[in-house]
Amino acid sequence: MTIACADCGTLQRLPALRRGDIAVCPSCDARLERVHARSISAALACASATLLLLFPANLLTLFRLRIFGISVHTQLASGVFALAAKGWVLLAVLIGASAMVLPFVRYGLLVLALGCVRLGYRPRWLGPVFRWSILLDRWTMPEVFLIACAVGYARIAAQASIIHVGAGGYCFVGVALMAMLSRALLDRRTVWRSIAPERVALPDAAVLSCTICDLVLPISEEGKHCPRCGSRLRARLPGVRTRTLALIIAAVVLYIPANVFPMSVTHFAGRVQSYRIVDGVMALFGAGLWPLGVLVSCTSIAIPVVKLAGLAWCLLSVHQRSTRHLRFKTHLYRMIDEAGRWSAVDPFIIAVIVPLVHLRNFVTTGAGIGATAFIVVVALTMAASRGFDPRLMWDAAAEHRFERG
Ligand SMILES: [Zn+2]
Ligand SMILES: [Zn+2]
Repeated sequence: MTIACADCGTLQRLPALRRGDIAVCPSCDARLERVHARSISAALACASATLLLLFPANLLTLFRLRIFGISVHTQLASGVFALAAKGWVLLAVLIGASAMVLPFVRYGLLVLALGCVRLGYRPRWLGPVFRWSILLDRWTMPEVFLIACAVGYARIAAQASIIHVGAGGYCFVGVALMAMLSRALLDRRTVWRSIAPERVALPDAAVLSCTICDLVLPISEEGKHCPRCGSRLRARLPGVRTRTLALIIAAVVLYIPANVFPMSVTHFAGRVQSYRIVDGVMALFGAGLWPLGVLVSCTSIAIPVVKLAGLAWCLLSVHQRSTRHLRFKTHLYRMIDEAGRWSAVDPFIIAVIVPLVHLRNFVTTGAGIGATAFIVVVALTMAASRGFDPRLMWDAAAEHRFERG
């Protein structure tokens, strides 16, 4: 069958692969396909476990805290409601959507699609259902929220409070592990092939490939809907460069208040203490929590800077029709697209801590302007990397080489 590499656009005629085989694109080194044994059943089992565990994880107690004789119980959504009640609605909505609502939608759709494939049932809506489960994948972040819970727990425990993980907390650990496992086991190409097989494209025929399911079709199909996944077919999406540039500029502008203004503000016995991103990292190092300090400095400082610089470099490469370092830039782009969601850890920590540090009017914690600015930076950079098409770099380089002869 013929497929098109999603990273560089080169058409590849794949031979029949056996279990354990890995097909690699000869132009850009991207992994085209890896054949797992029983991948659909294993991914279905993990996705179903994730979906089932989401219910107790959301309904049962996340943390139990005892301080000055008062006990505080929190649930997963407590922080989101507390932030919304304090007026930080945008922050609350973004955290609630990515850590609580979208996991139900994403894993519900994935279980439905994989269940149909496993049972051999092929309704018309199967392709679009699987496409939506893939599109929501990056925006669904239970594992990122789990890291935020671990940092929040360590920060509260370091202040000599008695804090226990509740049943909901243990279920949430299960959710995050099962979610990671189902992502690792899911072999998208096998699922797409089970929904509708690929064909061999005729040599020298003008073709385009679907950006979602990589199905190769004649160029005359442009503008119609993909017969397999239902998305609109385009050889290349229009306006990608302008949109990516606009998103990068907006993210760079908002990155300044995200670092200058406090992420969280604590009121303690009439005193006010505010934490910027850098203060939060220093507090972790100061409390002797070195591994968490290194982790948060990676997610909150290194990843956003690498994301913005890397995307700007890829965009410049298209603009200058550069023929250099194409493989490296393509790998960098894939890494940025994959790792971008982890920078949401810092705002998530606030959602974990806010409901725990709330003792009437004696001590309370709330978010600061920096938290909203930072989570919007994360969302903008993710939208920029999701919307960018790495094939544009290869197109521009090929055009340049063709003109030079
Ligand atoms: Zn390639
Ligand atoms: Zn498609």
